[in-house]
Amino acid sequence: MPLQLLDYNRPEKPDWCPACGNFGIINALKMALVELKISPHQVLVVSGIGCSSKLPHWLNTYGFHTLHGRPLPVATGAKLANHKLTVIAVGGDGDGYGLGMGHFMHSLRRNLDLVYLVHNNQIYGLTKGQTSPTSPTGFISSSTPDGVIEVPFNPIAAALSCAGTFIARGFSDNIQHLKELIKKAIIHKGFGFIDVLQPCVTFNKQNNRVWYKERIYELKEVPTSRVQAIEIALQTDKLGIGLFWQEQKSTYEGNLPQIKDMALVEQDIKRIDLRMALNNLV
Ligand code: SF4
Repeated sequence: MPLQLLDYNRPEKPDWCPACGNFGIINALKMALVELKISPHQVLVVSGIGCSSKLPHWLNTYGFHTLHGRPLPVATGAKLANHKLTVIAVGGDGDGYGLGMGHFMHSLRRNLDLVYLVHNNQIYGLTKGQTSPTSPTGFISSSTPDGVIEVPFNPIAAALSCAGTFIARGFSDNIQHLKELIKKAIIHKGFGFIDVLQPCVTFNKQNNRVWYKERIYELKEVPTSRVQAIEIALQTDKLGIGLFWQEQKSTYEGNLPQIKDMALVEQDIKRIDLRMALNNLV
């Protein structure tokens, strides 16, 4: 029987607030996996902490709900153990651009064959609406009652300057467009990063659907240089969605002779003798 969306459903229903942008993202992800004919047992979804990081609970794949800011290290370990798995890391802007910032930068330059989806709602939703690294200057929240003083982190511009090989921005309400981006990121041999703008209808009243719809437009073509892509990423009065950059480079796991030809989990460990290494520890 052909794969269908139902194959990715769990019996439990998501407890996200009604109309949260997370619904669009999980649906786009399911559609992408079905259209690429990737079966649930071939997929691992790793998440951090936050509303978005509950996503693996409601997706019928292997899942790993890790620590705050740590989906990328866990996804890296899983990919190195079994690089035949489709490994997808998910998290929010607080998780990935706050606590997980260092992992994000190093994953970009390392170029493992992973997908990283960041649900960017410009706020910490799960903990009831504090300022996040992408909240705009002047943003008033429970943690910044007089408004944010700092400038917001720009994930696309940062990824472009950190040697990322697949860099895109999507919008949770444009599900067909986001699905196509996710498919491209999965097919891409390397680190497929998508910053997904999404409304948090409960705690972010400023960046609501009207705000997004006044600014979002689809990129007509992929920029021809990183510099041009950064210029588009730095636009503030409008927000381009689409593919900002893609290039082919060797992957981290492809450069490791120990696993290049055979996944670690498939290798015979009967002849490996650890006694010498263990003796050296004492
Ligand atoms: Fe979505 Fe915001 Fe509700 Fe979290 S708090 S589920 S991000 S609407």
